[in-house]
Amino acid sequence: MQCQLRRFINDSMTATTDLIVFTDLDGTLIDHDTYDWSPAQPALSALKGMSAGVVLASSKTAAEIIPLRQTLGLHQWPAIVENGAGILSPNGAETQDASQYNELLSILTKIPPALRDLFRGFGACSPEQVIDMTGLTAKAAQLAKQRMFSEPGLWLGTDMQKAEFLKILTAQGVTAQQGGRFLSLSFGTNKVDQMRRIIETYRPKHTIALGDAPNDVKMLEHAEFGVVIANPHRSPLPPLTGEEDGHILRTKASGPMGWNMAIHDLLDRLELH
Ligand SMILES: [Mg+2]
Repeated sequence: MQCQLRRFINDSMTATTDLIVFTDLDGTLIDHDTYDWSPAQPALSALKGMSAGVVLASSKTAAEIIPLRQTLGLHQWPAIVENGAGILSPNGAETQDASQYNELLSILTKIPPALRDLFRGFGACSPEQVIDMTGLTAKAAQLAKQRMFSEPGLWLGTDMQKAEFLKILTAQGVTAQQGGRFLSLSFGTNKVDQMRRIIETYRPKHTIALGDAPNDVKMLEHAEFGVVIANPHRSPLPPLTGEEDGHILRTKASGPMGWNMAIHDLLDRLELH
């Protein structure tokens, strides 16, 4: 993956930058309820003006991220997709190589049905069932089903049955991340693993990461500055490593409004304005 990322970057004229911003989408750059990101536009424009990188890091699939990344004018930067299970290359539109995903589904088929049937993964669901499970529109559900690296789903059994299910998967090299609603299966990489790869490739002088949920925490702690974006829809994240010494900040405003203020504040602190 590292080689692949380097090759794409070399192929498309290396972007060098003083700053890369890694950002979660839902509840962070994008409003939890309205999906609006326009309050963050002034900060996005300031970052563009200084040729800073903005890397979207989300549980969304490449198929979902591509149009959004294009709309945000961030297509020249890689994106972290499927909760860090994969990377979408700069300017890339790859949504077809599902070899990892197919391997994952093949491992699932070998699990005894009594356990396997307790996991309702997106792959086994019709678009209508994904709409029911997620509340997405029909078009968005179709994009969410175009998976390449990971399989999210609902766990319908007990915790004990889940432990048994995960034990079998672990033996096959599959790891699980429990989100607020979905249990997500993949071959192990997460948002911070991909963040490290991108930093190693671009070598920015400064890094900022923004997020609102437990699956963003490692990314926030790894950045030079991490920003916890307020999300009134969930309980606040516990104190994070680096928070006491000022390397982790918390916004009062939620979503893109908080994002905008935090970026302006940090650009001032880093004297990058
Ligand atoms: Mg989020």
